[in-house]
Amino acid sequence: MLNAAEGDVASQPMCPQHPERAAVCTCARCGRYACSRCERDGGRCRECAHLAALEVPDSRARARWATLTQYVSGGAAVLGLLFNLLFYPELQREAQAVAQSGMLVLGVIIGITAQVCLLMWVHRVVRQLNALGPDLGMTPAWAVWLWLIPFLNWWKPYYVMRDIAERLGGMSFVASLPLQLWWGVNVVGRILEKAEGDLLSSKLQALGGTTAEVVGLLSSVFSVALVFLCVRIIKEIQVRLDQRREGLDEVETPAAGDAAVAA
Ligand SMILES: [Zn+2]
Ligand SMILES: [Zn+2]
Repeated sequence: MLNAAEGDVASQPMCPQHPERAAVCTCARCGRYACSRCERDGGRCRECAHLAALEVPDSRARARWATLTQYVSGGAAVLGLLFNLLFYPELQREAQAVAQSGMLVLGVIIGITAQVCLLMWVHRVVRQLNALGPDLGMTPAWAVWLWLIPFLNWWKPYYVMRDIAERLGGMSFVASLPLQLWWGVNVVGRILEKAEGDLLSSKLQALGGTTAEVVGLLSSVFSVALVFLCVRIIKEIQVRLDQRREGLDEVETPAAGDAAVAA
């Protein structure tokens, strides 16, 4: 707080943006006074915080890549399923083994690519939100690690996405996104994938091929559902983020405040 002597109005610094409001700090970047309404995280004024936020590149291109690779992984799941149902039983035993390992490798490559693209997008989104301030409470790198660390990655990524959504649009935006469904499908899909792997390897051979087929079918259905849920979440978060960057929200907030004052 700045200490102005009682009654010494002339020495009281005022906000350059709001001449009727007293300044509460000087900006750490440009040195201008800022009132409590203009003060931003890191002791910066509104313009400097805005400029700093714009210095972080946007995440539109990464969102497009994440979406594209999600669709590719969904398409691969469908093609893999069709192959397993229609062509796989016709193959010779040796050819079956080759096809199985080939598809496994291809599936892993496509899956990892989609995951890398998704996490690169998450990284950039968190970086932008932190620059827009106030801080999200996690670094971009930590947000990514939460998807990769065993055990934590069974529930933490849900909270990462929830925190991002809450920052962008409050609880009403969180409620409008299929976040719980997305995460539920993700968890069940991972369990099914593991079960399918165990069934195909010798571990649970006793249960026979039919069970493996049913689990494989379910696993593919979950993969495709996950793609559509994930793509929708990426799209809606990216739209909100673009609006925030363009300063649309910034215009909205003071207008609502002024209306309240006038009423
Ligand atoms: Zn400034
Ligand atoms: Zn101000």
